[in-house]
Amino acid sequence: MAIDTLDLAILVAIIAAVVAYFTRGKLWDKNEEDVSATGGSGSRDLMQTLKETGKKALVLFGSQTGTAEDYAHKFAKEFQARFGIPTMCGDLADYDYDSLDKIVADVSGFRLVVFFNATYGEGEPTDNAIDFFDYLDNECEDLSGLKFACFGLGNSTYEFYNAAGKKVADILKSKNAELVGELGLGDDGRGTMDEDYLSWKDSLFEVIKGALSLDEKEAEYEASIEVTEVANLTKDSPTVSLGEPDAKYVSLQGEAGPFDHTHPFLAPVLKTKDLSPNRHCIHAELDLSGSNMKYLTGDHLAIWPSNPDSKVSKMLSALGLQDRKDAVIKIKLLDPTVHSMIPSPTTYGAVIRHYLEISGPVSRQFIGSIVQFAPDEETKQRAKEIAEDKVLFQKRIIDQGFNIADALLALSNGSEWSTVPFAFIIESIPHIQPRYYSISSSALSDRNTVHVTVMVEANEVAGTDRLTTGVASNLLFDIELAQNKIADIEPFENYNLEGPRGKFHNYRLPVHVRRSTFKLPSNPNTPIIMVGPGTGVAPFRGFIREKVRQVENGEKSTGEIVLFYGCRKSTEDFLYKEEWPEYSKKLGDRFKFITAFSREADKKVYVQHKMLEHKKELADLLDKGAFFYVCGDASKMARDVQKALIKVVAQEKKVPEDDAAEMVKQLKIQNRYQEDVW
Ligand code: FAD
Repeated sequence: MAIDTLDLAILVAIIAAVVAYFTRGKLWDKNEEDVSATGGSGSRDLMQTLKETGKKALVLFGSQTGTAEDYAHKFAKEFQARFGIPTMCGDLADYDYDSLDKIVADVSGFRLVVFFNATYGEGEPTDNAIDFFDYLDNECEDLSGLKFACFGLGNSTYEFYNAAGKKVADILKSKNAELVGELGLGDDGRGTMDEDYLSWKDSLFEVIKGALSLDEKEAEYEASIEVTEVANLTKDSPTVSLGEPDAKYVSLQGEAGPFDHTHPFLAPVLKTKDLSPNRHCIHAELDLSGSNMKYLTGDHLAIWPSNPDSKVSKMLSALGLQDRKDAVIKIKLLDPTVHSMIPSPTTYGAVIRHYLEISGPVSRQFIGSIVQFAPDEETKQRAKEIAEDKVLFQKRIIDQGFNIADALLALSNGSEWSTVPFAFIIESIPHIQPRYYSISSSALSDRNTVHVTVMVEANEVAGTDRLTTGVASNLLFDIELAQNKIADIEPFENYNLEGPRGKFHNYRLPVHVRRSTFKLPSNPNTPIIMVGPGTGVAPFRGFIREKVRQVENGEKSTGEIVLFYGCRKSTEDFLYKEEWPEYSKKLGDRFKFITAFSREADKKVYVQHKMLEHKKELADLLDKGAFFYVCGDASKMARDVQKALIKVVAQEKKVPEDDAAEMVKQLKIQNRYQEDVW
C-alpha cells in the first residue's frame, strides 16, 4: 500500500511526538547552537563515572529546597582546591549505588565520600534521596574500607531533627564504613546553619589532614565553568536565553509538557486580592488549563520567582556590569561532572535576574572566598577580617540585613568589584529555587484553577530605615497591585512582570505542582480537626471547599469539621473573613469555626488556648476516629499545638502526660496526625 504525502507527514509528526515525549526535550537541549544542556557525564554508574572522569572524592547531596545542594557544591570546590584531590559533586538521584562497596578497591587513589542530607517533612529523606535510602534500607552490604563524612541539614524545632543525616551515618557505620570526623548537624531552627556548616567543615579538614594524610594548601578558585562574551550575538538573537525558566522555552514557540520540577508551566494569574491590606497577604488564582497538570487537595504549588529590579540593578553595579548587562555570554562546562541549570548563550542581566539567589542574607563563607578578587588591598583586608571573625560578621553584615551586593559595596566603600570573574559568581551564589505554597483551593471544586495564600515578606532591619524583602511573595504583591490597577499603594519591590521576551505578559508565573502527603481521610464520614493560624489556614480552606462541594454533590455522610483559626485582630488580618460564614451555611452544624484573636484582649489568646477550651469536644472527636491536622509556622506554633493536644488527651482521658504523649505519637504513626509546616 502506497503512503501518500499527507500520511507521510502524519507519520513523521507522530514519530517526532513520540521521540519528543520519551526524550523530554533532551535531544534539542543538547544542541549547542540552540541552548546548551545541563552537562554531567550522563552515566548512572557511579564507579564508571569516577573512573572516566578521574575523580578521587565524591560529594553527594539529598536536597529539597537547594540548600544542601549549595553546601555540597561549596564543599566539593573547597575540598578540591585545598587538598588538590579531583572531586565530583552529584545529585543522589542521578546515580545507582550498587558499586559503592567496590569504589575503594577499583578506583585507584579514591579518598572519601561526603554526604549532605537534608531532612524533609517528618524525618523523611528529600525527594531526590528516596532511592538512595531504599538502597541503604534494603540493598547496602559490607562497606569495609570506605571512608565517609556526613553533614545533615535539619531543624531542631521538628521532632525528627536531622533524621536523614543521622540515618545515613548510622547505616553506613553499621556496614563497616568509617566515619571521618564528627557527624555534622546544621540547625535551621536556631538559624545557625551557616555557622554549623563552617565549624563542621573546618574541624573535618583538620581531621582529614591526619586521617587521609593530605597536605593542605591555600584555597584558590579553580573554575569548573568558563564564561566568555560572544561578540556576534545580541540579546535579540533568537537562540539567546533572556531568562526563560527552562531552555525549552527558548527553543520552542509554544508550551510543551510534561510540566514538573525541571520544566514549569507558565500559568496565567487569573485573579489576585490582598486579603489583609494592613499586613499584605495575597490570594492568587492561577489557571492550569491545558497544562495536563493535576493537583490533589492538600498538595503544594511551587512558584519560580525572578529577582526584583532594584536588587538586579544593585548587583550589576556592584560587579561593574551595569553597562554590559545585555552583553551575550556563553557558559562552557569545563568539568563533565558539573551541571548548570543556566541556559547558554544568555546575558549577564538574565543570569542575575532569573538564576541567582541575590536577595537573601550573604554567607561568611562567600565573603571569605571572594576576598581573593577584592578590587583593592584595603577592601581585601577589610573583607578578610570580617570573614574570619564571626562576631564582626554578624554585626557588620547580618545585623545590617545586607544581601550580597550590599555587603560587597559596604566592604569596598562603594567601589565596583569588576575584578570578580563571572564564572565565580555563577558557581558561588546559590541558584534561585522555587518557593512552595500550600494550595488553598480544592481539586474537586476548583478543578483547573489553583489558589495560593501568600504572606508578603517585608521586615524592618532593626536600627535602620531599611527593609529586607522576600523574592516570591513580593512578586505576587507587585502582580496584585498591577492587576487590580491599584495606584495609591507602592509595592515594596518592582519586577519585570512582562518576563523574558514577554513570556509572562498579562500576568503569568512559572509553576509546578508538588505532591504532598497532607490529605483528607478517604472516608468523608471521618471527623477532622484542623489547626491553622495565619497563612496556615491555606490548605484548610481547600479542605473545606472540598467538603462543601461533596455536600453540594449530594454526599450526606460528612463527618464533623472543626477548624481553629488565629490571627492578630478580627479587623486586621482575618484571612477569608467573608468566606467562612458562606461555608458554614452550606455545611450547617457539621462545621465549627473557632477563632483566636491574639491582640484583642489584655492577654494574648492563641489557637492552642482555644483547643484547651474545647478539650472535651476534641477528645470525643478523637475517640470517633478524627484526623488531626496542623499547618503553618514550624518553629513554635506546631510544637505548642502538639503540647496542647497532649494536655487535652491527658486531662480528658485522665492519664499522665507521658501516656498522653504516647497516644499522640500513635496518632502520627497511624497517619491521623498530619503536619504541613514550614
Ligand atoms: P525569600 O526571598 O525566600 O526570603 C525569606 C525571608 O528572608 C524573608 O522574610 C525576607 O524578608 C528575608 N530576607 C531577605 N533578604 C534578607 C537579608 N538580606 N537578610 C536577612 N533576611 C532577609 N507561605 C505562605 O505565605 N503561605 C503558604 O501557604 C505557604 N506554604 C508553604 C508550604 C511549604 C511546604 C513550604 C516549605 C513553605 C510554605 N510557605 C508558605 C513559605 C513560602 O514558601 C516562602 O518561604 C515565603 O513566601 C517567603 O518566600 P519569599 O521568596 O517571599 O522570601
